[in-house]
This record gives sequence, structure tokens and C-alpha cells, in this order.
Amino acid sequence: MTTKAGRILILMLSVILIFSGCSPSPNTDAGGKLNVVATTTMLADLSGIIGGEHVSVSGLMGPGIDPHLYQASAGDVQLLQKAAVVVYNGLHLEGKMGEIFGSLSGQGGTVVCIEEGLDTSKLLASEDDPAIFDPHIWFDVSLWKSAAATVAKGFAEADPNNKEDYEANLEQYIKELDELDAYIHQRAAEVPEAQRVLVTAHDAFNYFGNAYGFEVRGLQGISTDAEAGTADVSSLADFIVERQIKAIFIESSVPRKAIQALQAAVKAKNFDVTIGGELYSDSLGDEAAGTATYILTFKANIDTIVEALQ
Ligand SMILES: [Zn+2]
Repeated sequence: MTTKAGRILILMLSVILIFSGCSPSPNTDAGGKLNVVATTTMLADLSGIIGGEHVSVSGLMGPGIDPHLYQASAGDVQLLQKAAVVVYNGLHLEGKMGEIFGSLSGQGGTVVCIEEGLDTSKLLASEDDPAIFDPHIWFDVSLWKSAAATVAKGFAEADPNNKEDYEANLEQYIKELDELDAYIHQRAAEVPEAQRVLVTAHDAFNYFGNAYGFEVRGLQGISTDAEAGTADVSSLADFIVERQIKAIFIESSVPRKAIQALQAAVKAKNFDVTIGGELYSDSLGDEAAGTATYILTFKANIDTIVEALQ
């Protein structure tokens, strides 16, 4: 090939590239997908639903992992640094990862913090520390709808070519969340009002209680970072006896021994409380249990609660 012919070929190729329209977004991988890294299982699920075919999602925490205690590995930090979009909860949920998120902004990727899209007037204060908000916002479906909108906005910023698809996916998902919300209200109503008391391993269910009319008591605080003391166990046991509560619940991401100790303390006070089953608190379930998505996990939770308390 002569040099001249070579130049013409290059020129033709450039013209083809220019006229073929959308040059690939700098944020996409070789397959043209937006590379998204989400912290929790809830956020990985949400990112996949809003992003659809345009994203490839990696979740840092697997099912059953406790986000309050999760420490990012060196591999996680690399994944986060290379991501086009990072999605995290905030409100100190990822308590050991705060500094990493701070260092990511300014590195070129889009950082989506769910906390920033929430209406703070709808947030509950942490019981341990009234100066901070309770991070377990996914247990109020109306707050999870805000989270979905925040993710859609972040994806549209990172990948404007597919903005309309992200918005359409959001609209469709909001409908599914409205159906879920109606289902939870309808099931909750099956439990007599006096029995609507939820006792679990840690304070993850305050938004749930607030939205769906349950009184909530957690053995540990908002974070699982500190263990419950014997005084906490004893006073919660008194409460269970006094209110004649039929069942208490273990949580998938918290060791079950604390709730078993509570059950024993109740028995020592001559009252029997059953363990009503396992609730998913800070992590979704998995494929094998039929609870791999947020909607399936939440349905499993309300079904477990209603069956044990009614
Ligand atoms: Zn928690």
C-alpha cells in the first residue's frame, strides 16, 4: 500500500467514525456497558434494575454481609477507583468505608450517594445518637423510591446517551414498588394491632415500623458495632413478658446467638417466646432462597413477620 493510499484509507475511516454517530461514552467498558460498583446487595439490585442492559454491576458485599462492619479490601478499592459510577448508601451505613468515598470524588467517576437525594424531613434519628440519621432507609418503600430516582439521575449524568432508558426503567420500577408497598400494608393489617411489635437483633427496622405501623425494639443499636450488654437483654426480656409478645426474630446479617440469649432470658422469667424466623435486615437473600431481589426479600420479611405474630 502506498503512503498516499494509506492516508486516504485513514481519512475514510475517520469519516465513517464521525458519521456513525455516537462515539462510545468514555465511561463504558469494551462491551459498551457502564461499569457500576455498588456497596450493598440492595444497591446492586437497584443499580441493575435502573441500568438494565446498559450497565454491568459489581456489588462489593455479598448476601449476609453486615455493611456496618464491612472493611474494603485492596481489591475493592481498585474496583471503586476504576468504576464509572459508584453507588453507596451513606448515612454512615458503610461505617468503615467513609474515607474511601471521600477520596473517590474528584477522580473522574460519578459518585452516587443515596443519602444526598433523600428528604431529611422523612428521616428518623438514630436512637443511639440523635445527631445522626438512621441509615436503614430501604425498609420504607417510599424512601427506596427516592433512592431509585437518585440512581437514575446518576446514571443519566454518567451516560447521557441512555438517559431516556434509565428514566423509563425508573418509571416501571416505581410501579412495582407501589405494588410492593400495597402488599406490605395489606399483610400488616392481618396482625391484630396489639401484636404489631417487632423484636429483632439490631435496630434495623425503625423505618419499617414507622411506615407500616409496627412498634420496633432492637437488641443492639442502629449499628452492630457494639454488642448488647446483659442489662439490655434483661430489660428487653421484661418488655416481651409484659407485652405477651409471641415471637422474636433473628437477622440474616447478625449472629443469632444474641436473639437466642434473649429467648433464654424470657424463659427464665417463665414466659415462652418463639423465634419467629429469620429476617433479612442489612442484606438481601439469595437465589437459592428465592430472595435475590429487594422486592422478593421484602415480601419474604413481611410474610415471616405476619405468620409469626398473627
Ligand atoms: Zn443495620
